[in-house]
Amino acid sequence: EPDFAERIASKLGAVSTRKVVHALDGVDLTIEKGEVVGLVGESGCGKSTLGRIIAGMIPATEGDVLVKGEKRDSLRGQAAREARLKTQIIFQDPMSSLNPRKRVLDIVGEAPVAHGLIKRGEKRKLVEDLLETVGLDPSMTDRYPHQFSGGQRQRLGIARALAVKPEFLVCDESIAALDISIQAQVINLFMDLRKSFDLTYLFISHDLGVVNHIADRVVIMYLGRVVESGRVEDIFERPNHPYTAALLAEVPSIDKRHRTFTTIKGEIPSPVSPPSGCHFHPRCPHAFERCRIERPALVDLGGRHQSACHLNELPERPDFNMSIQGE
Ligand code: SF4
Ligand code: MG
Repeated sequence: EPDFAERIASKLGAVSTRKVVHALDGVDLTIEKGEVVGLVGESGCGKSTLGRIIAGMIPATEGDVLVKGEKRDSLRGQAAREARLKTQIIFQDPMSSLNPRKRVLDIVGEAPVAHGLIKRGEKRKLVEDLLETVGLDPSMTDRYPHQFSGGQRQRLGIARALAVKPEFLVCDESIAALDISIQAQVINLFMDLRKSFDLTYLFISHDLGVVNHIADRVVIMYLGRVVESGRVEDIFERPNHPYTAALLAEVPSIDKRHRTFTTIKGEIPSPVSPPSGCHFHPRCPHAFERCRIERPALVDLGGRHQSACHLNELPERPDFNMSIQGE
């Protein structure tokens, strides 16, 4: 689409990992340049798989990733390398992705030299500048990862990602392992970088409260499917899907208009053999006959708000936001 400077769309089907697990089921996601999209769901919902596919780390067995309207897999040579570099992923545990035997100078500065973005002689200056950018002392350039705290290591991981001049960052639970006070600092760093580096983010988290601070738009996944998506204010003020409402009820920091159910009953079913119909039906307090049989389609509710729930087709939809007003 000419309107989107960057468009990453995927129509993704089955993804096989070691065991053939159908981790994603018809996920179609568009991220516009400059957006921060929060991708939320419980473990096993496929959010990390989707992030890894978008970051180019694992292939989708069905479907495509489009970058600026072009299928990324059909790019060759320099264009393919560029597309790869423009998307970087930042993980939860920075230690496991930082080579313990390398100095920061090489951890951060190696890729931009290898990809010809800078000359070898410019490496130290680049690394020092990047350390400063992410809030680390540039004099730490010759240290090793173990000499940094958890929060500092995550900043190193961010510096390494920035070194190759990405346009798009996939953050997979990037702050989940950090202390609460450090989490806020790293979120602020991400937000500053968004402006100064003109970044686009896919921010993957199990925590809707975290996403509330950072995202423009939220996508909620359940067992491999997108169940609701919309602008952050719509998701928080007018959640449509019972699963979203249940997730919101578990966020301690927001008001409790949605507390008709405070916890989601039941275990998360196995993604290998998900329930029939609406995957959420065994745990949904509003489930009715049709939910066991038929998969609900994602329906447009206006303003980029979409939800997949059969309640939307009932003549009188039970309103679980209104139902507690008499309390
Ligand atoms: Fe609940 Fe049925 Fe809606 Fe699924 S489709 S969320 S089971 S009411
Ligand atoms: Mg995960």
